[in-house]
Amino acid sequence: MSTHVSSKPVSMPMPSMPRVRRSREEVEAAAPVHGEKKVLLAAPRGYCAGVDRAVIAVEKALEHYGPPIYVRKQIVHNRHVVETLEERGAIFVEETDEVPEGSLLVFSAHGVSPAVVQSAKDRDLETIDATCPLVTKVHREAVRFAKNGYRILLIGHEGHEEVEGTYGEAPEVTTIVNGPEEVADLVVPEHEKLIWLSQTTLSVDETLETVRLLRERFPHLENPPSDDICYATSNRQHAIKKVAPQADLVLVVGSTNSSNSVRLVEVALEYGAKNAKLVDFAREVDEAWFEGVATVGVSSGASVPEVLVQEVLRLLADYGYGEIEEIVTAEEDIIFSLPKELRPILRAHGDESRALGGRGTKTPK
Ligand code: SF4
Repeated sequence: MSTHVSSKPVSMPMPSMPRVRRSREEVEAAAPVHGEKKVLLAAPRGYCAGVDRAVIAVEKALEHYGPPIYVRKQIVHNRHVVETLEERGAIFVEETDEVPEGSLLVFSAHGVSPAVVQSAKDRDLETIDATCPLVTKVHREAVRFAKNGYRILLIGHEGHEEVEGTYGEAPEVTTIVNGPEEVADLVVPEHEKLIWLSQTTLSVDETLETVRLLRERFPHLENPPSDDICYATSNRQHAIKKVAPQADLVLVVGSTNSSNSVRLVEVALEYGAKNAKLVDFAREVDEAWFEGVATVGVSSGASVPEVLVQEVLRLLADYGYGEIEEIVTAEEDIIFSLPKELRPILRAHGDESRALGGRGTKTPK
């Protein structure tokens, strides 16, 4: 990961938003601040290449096939994105048996187990697989290591869709490890070859600690060929680590079911932010959080469109936090191709640019 840190002033358009709130003067009178008010805006933040690809996949499916398009689980973990796609005709379901036979179903960015793929086939569903390629990479590793006789210690949050999908590739030889606190009581069969894999959106520091503890207990534990925590998760955590020590309050834009957004709040607090909050929308920001706050850090999870961050920045400007400095810790330029199932129809409609890839981002490591 690139370690350079640069900061630059940002000039943001600040149109006023209709909002029933106290005036800046009233807020300041209630919560006097000592020091200059400013915002430190973390970069990279927001949409990653995998989320971008998944959202475009649903948009393109709606455009070319027409509604309804069924999507298993939230396409990405963000309320705004899901609600916007619902308005356009996407129908989100929990399981394949809710989808009428013969319909079109999109698998979300978090991936699915082979059992889910089979159940879609059994219902004669046409499918588009919007699983992030970096999640697919972990699935392939799980299949390969299972085939080669390993027990897989899958570090991740039990019940999270991504973990369910990866686990489902080799359930008989996979053990889920929720975090460092579970290592001491972990029971694995003796004399088995051991490899660890992980969910893509975990805390980098906590995962390293889990691996350290696992290796203490199982010295023969092997490492995967490359990190499973994805570039977007690592980069957003790296950026917030630079912002947090200077921030009285960090606002992370993201949904409560978004693993990488929740991790950003935790990392901000670990790295010195006096307070940190997760909000889906600017309207959820509470005036009471600004008491005595001079510097506000802002970031957003990998499933969050930038428009939601801009709304928070406009709100902060209303409260007198109009000076924005962007703290840049990496440049990203990855682009993922759209799902293969979409490419023929996009080409047939002369939609070549989208057939080749979405807006995207990558990171220097
Ligand atoms: S957060 Fe990482 S793994 Fe998840 S969709 Fe984005 S790039 Fe892919």
